[in-house]
Amino acid sequence: MEIACLDLEGVLVPEIWIAFAEKTGIEELKATTRDIPDYDVLMKQRLSILDKHGLKLSDIQEVIATLKPLDGAVEFVSWLRERFQVVILSDTFYEFSQPLMRQLGFPTLLCHRLITDENDRVVDYQLRQKDPKRQSVVALKSIYYRIIAAGDSYNDTTMLSEAHAGILFHAPQNVIDEFPQFPAVQTFDDLKQEFIKASNRELSL
Ligand SMILES: [Mg+2]
Repeated sequence: MEIACLDLEGVLVPEIWIAFAEKTGIEELKATTRDIPDYDVLMKQRLSILDKHGLKLSDIQEVIATLKPLDGAVEFVSWLRERFQVVILSDTFYEFSQPLMRQLGFPTLLCHRLITDENDRVVDYQLRQKDPKRQSVVALKSIYYRIIAAGDSYNDTTMLSEAHAGILFHAPQNVIDEFPQFPAVQTFDDLKQEFIKASNRELSL
């Protein structure tokens, strides 16, 4: 049997921090690992900005609930789930992704966790493990599943390499150029075709 592993942000839903910054107008939340390469420093800064604006987890979730999956993503996920077991491998946090996952029908999600205090303030975060996307593929292969993975960015490339087949979706040109071994597509229709091609079963659209 085969499992489809999908990245979440940039593939099925918008980049959550960026969309949240745009919705709330909090410009300083737009910083990414491109601006602050140390992820821990970046996350600590994000949490202190949320705190400074008095945003508790429930306030943040209310804003995120107004975000929508990317056009075509809901239909794509149902298409994929009829043909594969689907597991979403993401570097987001359960508490942030919840409103968007609800709109996607709650497919299985492996990601990280936020830590809140008794007043619902986000005080810390906990990463699930090192190199989590790749390790998840390693684990699923150990129970003899064939893995086809799709993602859009650098943090997906170890997952794509570890999988039996990897696909770049919505990837920027620099990632496409650096990883020419993966087919790169930009639309959900083309992504379906790539999953059909990568499968070892006779699937149709
Ligand atoms: Mg992504």
